[in-house]
Amino acid sequence: MPFDHKPEPIATSRPKQKGLVRRHKDNVYGQISETKFNRYVVHDIARYRKYVDEGGAAVYSQDELDELEAAGISDRLPPRATGYYLDLAKRSQAVRNLIKARPEEMEDLSGEKDPSNQLKYSPVPGLLHKYELCLIYVVRTCSSWCRYCYRSDFLTGKTEKDTASITEITDYIKGHNAAVEAGEITDKPKIREALLSGGDPMVLSNRNLFDYLNGLAEAGLEVIRIGTKEMAFFPERFDDNFFEMLDLFHELHPHVLVAFMVHFTHPDEFLHVTNDGEWVRDEHGRFLRNRLVESAAQRLRSRPFVTLENQTPIIDQVNDNADVLRTMQQELKRMGVNNHYYFQCREIEGFRAFAVPVETAWKLHTESQHGLSGIERSRFALSTEAGKMELVSVIDGDERLADTVGGPLGEALAEGLVIFRLHRTPFENRQSDIVIARRNPDALWITGYEDRILYDGRREDADDKFGPLLAALAPALMTAAE
Ligand code: SF4
Repeated sequence: MPFDHKPEPIATSRPKQKGLVRRHKDNVYGQISETKFNRYVVHDIARYRKYVDEGGAAVYSQDELDELEAAGISDRLPPRATGYYLDLAKRSQAVRNLIKARPEEMEDLSGEKDPSNQLKYSPVPGLLHKYELCLIYVVRTCSSWCRYCYRSDFLTGKTEKDTASITEITDYIKGHNAAVEAGEITDKPKIREALLSGGDPMVLSNRNLFDYLNGLAEAGLEVIRIGTKEMAFFPERFDDNFFEMLDLFHELHPHVLVAFMVHFTHPDEFLHVTNDGEWVRDEHGRFLRNRLVESAAQRLRSRPFVTLENQTPIIDQVNDNADVLRTMQQELKRMGVNNHYYFQCREIEGFRAFAVPVETAWKLHTESQHGLSGIERSRFALSTEAGKMELVSVIDGDERLADTVGGPLGEALAEGLVIFRLHRTPFENRQSDIVIARRNPDALWITGYEDRILYDGRREDADDKFGPLLAALAPALMTAAE
């Protein structure tokens, strides 16, 4: 769609300048210790076969592996998981469905190669800049790979996205912020926050992670987010050496908030799950938690400069259940994790195998809010090129209106309406504007509504915003004029 945002140069390559970043900081880096973790990562089909032969958790039968191999599943995204997560998958159907490749992934590969046109917003390799928050690609892998991964193009190197050089990124941030202060840039605010992403920053060594944290803090950022699913995939990563590095960072930059954007998709990832796949309650009726996850959460929460926020998509056969979503929000909040966003599955290639229709996902999320307190609730949104579009309501149609109102507007009211709100958008003058479209129960993404829009708050000019509505009203207006 024709957003009037200036296209930026496309990212292609980056220099590695670790030596430069660490120069004259021996005393600091000398205080950071590393743990040699063995995540026992099982990557791709051949390794899975060996893993099962060796007595590992058989999440695939040999026939399933044969079928996936024949379908060429590794060309889309090789299956990958830690031994820890595979062991959990043995006990949890939801976890199994999250990491287990599905042959249907290869049946329909339609979807966006570069979801939400991210490269258009990449002025420097490894950096996406849309808001006062920028996103930085720091590593090209996670310890396990979600089949619905919305960054799979980056993990598999299918687009030109590259990992970031901290020196290039901080030069860009300082230059941008100086230009905003000087009034030379007026269409974007100063960069105050960065989200470290990838991949999962928590698979980096402590020193490599510190390079980014320290560099961004020295560039003047106030909040650094770490997007991670490692609390679900390999919670042992949050060990003494990691917390010593985090505390050292805080000592050097006491004003910087570190927000862990965690990614729990199902309560089985953080509650205690028995061998029969059941949750267990204590004598007070409270669910017992996974000991390793609880320890990581407690240690993070005990630091006043840290916050924990959960965000996850709603995925077919993983968490597409209102009761599960409600339990997840209650129990996460009780564990000290804020419920940030539930997302519509993004339109990556092959997404049809995992996506729940937009209106169904909204209904599940809405039902899950019943019985939740104000501090436990979350938003349901689509992360689109125009920003985070919260789906605020789906209104049932009334067939009688087709005749009573008549024309295209009567048809629209008979079909029912969906209302999105631009909860977060790079366009200052469109913040909190809305988009109204005719319902489409089969839509899997915003593209399923583009030819049904009545009012489009994503557009800049009033004529464009109201254009479809005026067209729908035209017959009635003409009759009135006659
Ligand atoms: S944790 Fe995030 S980046 Fe990693 S595989 Fe899952 S969705 Fe992709």
